[in-house]
Amino acid sequence: MEKNAYDFELGKIEGLIKERGAGRVGLQLPEGIKTVATDIATEISKETGAEVIISGNSCYGACDIDEKLMRNVDMLFHFGHTETFLQAKKFVLREKVPKKVFFIELRSGVDVKPAVEKAVAEIQRDTVGLVATVQHVHALKEAEIVLARLEKKAIIGKSCLKYDGQVLGCEFSSAVVPCDEILFIGSGSFHPAGLALYTGKRVIAADPFTMQISIYEPEELRKKRYIVIARALDAKSVAIIVGMKSGQFELSKAIDLKKKAVEKGLNAYLITMDEITEDKLLAFNVDTFVNTACPRLVEDFTHFKKPVLSVKEFEVVLGERRWEDCFVLP
Ligand code: SF4
Repeated sequence: MEKNAYDFELGKIEGLIKERGAGRVGLQLPEGIKTVATDIATEISKETGAEVIISGNSCYGACDIDEKLMRNVDMLFHFGHTETFLQAKKFVLREKVPKKVFFIELRSGVDVKPAVEKAVAEIQRDTVGLVATVQHVHALKEAEIVLARLEKKAIIGKSCLKYDGQVLGCEFSSAVVPCDEILFIGSGSFHPAGLALYTGKRVIAADPFTMQISIYEPEELRKKRYIVIARALDAKSVAIIVGMKSGQFELSKAIDLKKKAVEKGLNAYLITMDEITEDKLLAFNVDTFVNTACPRLVEDFTHFKKPVLSVKEFEVVLGERRWEDCFVLP
């Protein structure tokens, strides 16, 4: 990864460290950006004299603050996400006052226009909902102008996150606009797959870094999920997964689900996990799993040997929700 592909705001970080007189600071970077962590640590340490500690744990979202590291440093810089996730989901960060965690958004400097121009060939109808991850959200207006020039109307929806048009793998409110299809600007598959699954709209994903254009058809994705739900209908036992990341901890919801499962005659268990992988799940002798933690891996879960359901999908298994209602926005 090119260090200058993103704005790491090192001047701002160094200013804050000096202003606070912080002697020990933590850095938390998302997967894929960790390759530059040591360069950043060297520069910050050289400029400020602070001891820099890099979190080596996985980090996929603002839900995922390394709280142990936070407790052991004067300031923690969390890269790649916005803190509004925590407010939108009503999660309280157990940090001390004064504030210790600082979010650095990692805005991309890459030009989105060529990728948008290329994506237009795949747009079948007239109006798109235009969304992006925080790295590209500042370029949505430019993308809108490109689309208008190529006779496509774009709508940038309001969001409960920091910016209009911003999406997360668990928050798609900005895509709920009167449109025919959705154009997503960003990398990876979990945002566009979630957008297609939960909005029911065809998603065109344009990656400005690789120039790759990918298509996500909601009916195909939903069909795969229906097959997973159907496989769980015969389950005799279920484990409800409680995510242990700070913004994913939903213990009360998990306990409620366990009670409902027991009432329906299932053997039910609660299992905590930091990260859900197939290997970890296969260690447990249960027929099916329910994920109350991060929903962004739903596409990956489709390929797991044992069914891993979302809460709403499990409600279908319990007979409390209609099949056609299990893909409502999370
Ligand atoms: S999609 Fe998952 S990792 Fe991303 S913010 Fe939501 S809960 Fe966190």
